[in-house]
Amino acid sequence: MITELICVGTELLLGNIVNTNAAYLAQQCANLGLSCYYQSVVGDNENRLCQVIKRALERSDIVILSGGLGPTKDDLTKECVAKVMGLELIKDEHSAKRIKAYFQARGMEITDNNWKQAYAPQGALIVDNHNGTAPGLIIKQEEKSVLLLPGPPMELYPMFEQQMIPYLRSLQPGIIYSKTVKLCGIGESKAETMILDLIEGQTNPTIAPYAKTGEVHFRVTAKAESQQEAEEKMEPLLKTLFERFGDKIYTLKEEEALEHKIVQLLEERNLHLGLAESCTGGLLAGRITNVAGASKVFTTGLVTYTNEAKEQLLGVKKETLETYGAVSANTAQEMVQGVMDKYGTEAAVAITGIAGPGGGSEEKPVGLVYIGCQVKGIRKVKEYHFSGNREKIRQNTVTAALILLRRCILES
Ligand code: ATP
Ligand code: MG
Repeated sequence: MITELICVGTELLLGNIVNTNAAYLAQQCANLGLSCYYQSVVGDNENRLCQVIKRALERSDIVILSGGLGPTKDDLTKECVAKVMGLELIKDEHSAKRIKAYFQARGMEITDNNWKQAYAPQGALIVDNHNGTAPGLIIKQEEKSVLLLPGPPMELYPMFEQQMIPYLRSLQPGIIYSKTVKLCGIGESKAETMILDLIEGQTNPTIAPYAKTGEVHFRVTAKAESQQEAEEKMEPLLKTLFERFGDKIYTLKEEEALEHKIVQLLEERNLHLGLAESCTGGLLAGRITNVAGASKVFTTGLVTYTNEAKEQLLGVKKETLETYGAVSANTAQEMVQGVMDKYGTEAAVAITGIAGPGGGSEEKPVGLVYIGCQVKGIRKVKEYHFSGNREKIRQNTVTAALILLRRCILES
């Protein structure tokens, strides 16, 4: 079904707030198997808002609006939808009671304009707002559905998930079922090239690639009568993906991140991990300890930022630092060795690099990173050249370290 998002608010147009509702709603629509063909942003202006709603109703089956349901004069969404659809606004006593209760519970005075929120277009389905006063609305007119949601994400997300999703599901026969195939250690364009034929030939299931920091995800979606039927429909495609990408695929579970898989692999093989980080300052340890139960496999993580710290805490040789520099394959290698010797772990990762923006030179530019990794007898030291700002370089480094660690574990 063709779906259109309309986000209302002058502050969105001015760039004062980022349109995170659009990103959220678009993702949710994709999950539901709705074809989101259009997104618009429009200010709090009656004429323009009416125009946008009118056009959306001409070309889309489902129109989802966010924002402009508040009590003030510039909150116009409901009024404009009613006008375009030729519906009268009628006071809804249930909403009026809820608004009264909301204010009383907080010891707040109700001002006259608050009652505006109790009005709904004739025939609309009222959706209670458990986190604010503006109710959501669902209006069905012939084959078209219009959904109105409050702007604040804290109100919009739960309302959408608890009450709008069931409605949207009910519009479509059967179910939409998705699986995320997560890959690491392969670039986005290479991965996409390898599935071009699958993308071109897709009908049901469909496949779509998404790039994440250092990873590629394929979203596979099937429409079917039941989950079992959907899974059966997906199976040949998943088999093809495994044939083409092998162990570059690390999970099929949406909720499983790379670090979860690594902790799981370490645990299965009874390995303990130690880390030594320089330019990432503990971010890798942060990723590992995001995983509940990491204490079973994670021994220690050191942040060895200065040369002295690398010498004292890891036993990196002064002459190595002087000859090759702190950012070098040799230093990364000795950092790994240092972790394993001093902390007795079977697996170790060390990171040293230049995150910038300063500190780079022609020979060693910003973004140059060395990652050393050893798991039992398997040892790898790799040189990386990342681009982007400090934040991006550090995030890419952490993901690259996780990927290298996974590779060493698999080979060990
Ligand atoms: P309120 O009752 O708070 O006025 P509302 O439904 O009228 O709610 P808006 O007035 O449009 O919604 O927006 C209220 C606040 O919600 C904004 O100041 C902003 O913080 C947030 N918000 C609105 N739209 C978006 C959006 N598209 N993405 C992210 N945040 C948003
Ligand atoms: Mg408002």
